[in-house]
Amino acid sequence: MSTNIVFIGLGNMGLPMAQNLARAGHAVTGFDLMPASVRQFVAGGGLSSEDLAAAIAAADVVITMLPASRHVQGAYLGTPLGEAGILAQAKKGALLIDCSTIAPEVAREVAAAALDKGLRMIDAPVSGGTAGAAGGTLTFMVGGAAEDLAGARPLLEQMGKNIFHAGPSGSGQTVKICNNMLLGILMIGTSEAIRLGVANGLDPKVVSDVMAKSSGRNWALEVYNPCPGVFDNVPAARDYTGGFGVDLMLKDLGLAVESAGASGASVPLGQLARQLYDVHSKSGAGGLDFSSIYRLQHPAV
Ligand code: NAD
Repeated sequence: MSTNIVFIGLGNMGLPMAQNLARAGHAVTGFDLMPASVRQFVAGGGLSSEDLAAAIAAADVVITMLPASRHVQGAYLGTPLGEAGILAQAKKGALLIDCSTIAPEVAREVAAAALDKGLRMIDAPVSGGTAGAAGGTLTFMVGGAAEDLAGARPLLEQMGKNIFHAGPSGSGQTVKICNNMLLGILMIGTSEAIRLGVANGLDPKVVSDVMAKSSGRNWALEVYNPCPGVFDNVPAARDYTGGFGVDLMLKDLGLAVESAGASGASVPLGQLARQLYDVHSKSGAGGLDFSSIYRLQHPAV
């Protein structure tokens, strides 16, 4: 069944996700602040609209894939300058799916405001990287009502492989933050281990192959290797362009540390990982893929 969808945020993740929905036969109107991204979406068979408010008013489903909490708040609730947000424009009963990684309390705030307006909303952040977005193999971590997830599931299945219901509104974001804190720590550890082997004269491919069959194996090593020359189709093979930005990882580690502070959880490695990514970002690497932490040789911490 074809659904009328508006997809907002056509970046590294949103563009391939929206393309998968368009390819599956849905009428997908894409929007991004960067006109070049919208042009790319239209060139690949997507739709665009001069009148975004009208497209949202006509949509059965609105999906957002935006950088951080403030972008999601602005998009749904509107701006202080009086620009109307999605909640003021969507038709009654429309289903809203936010796939961005944001603070759980912001996800709850926006979902509660949606409910007040007779709209349905789930938080559905993803894991799997840009390759997972392009291949339609993402993992979705969903927070919200079970019946709203049931309504969203056919669409999520066209963008991903594993769909988990984590709990009520905001829970998808909480589990996503746990995952990304672990990922940030693993990427640093993997980089350090490969660098140690290389400093001792070993071939990084050999070090990686051995660890991938040993107890140090993990996703950063086996799927997203940070050392240039080990894999072909990863950001490390293209000067760390594309992929998942250092500043987005820094944002997620910030969310993890804040959440730990609020809940009393102890996350010393999460805190250290945040410091290391902060040093890396301040050295000018904020726009590079997060696996470029491999280049951080002498951190000032
Ligand atoms: P990105 O920076 O590549 O894309 C974000 C897009 O949103 C940009 O094109 C930007 O122009 C657009 N945008 C910002 N504000 C907007 C607005 N008000 N209206 C319309 N468009 C707007 O980021 P990304 O890598 O695609 O990540 C998006 C989200 O997904 C982030 O929350 C990130 O943490 C999360 N995420 C990313 C990855 C990854 O591998 N890149 C993996 C999992 C989750």
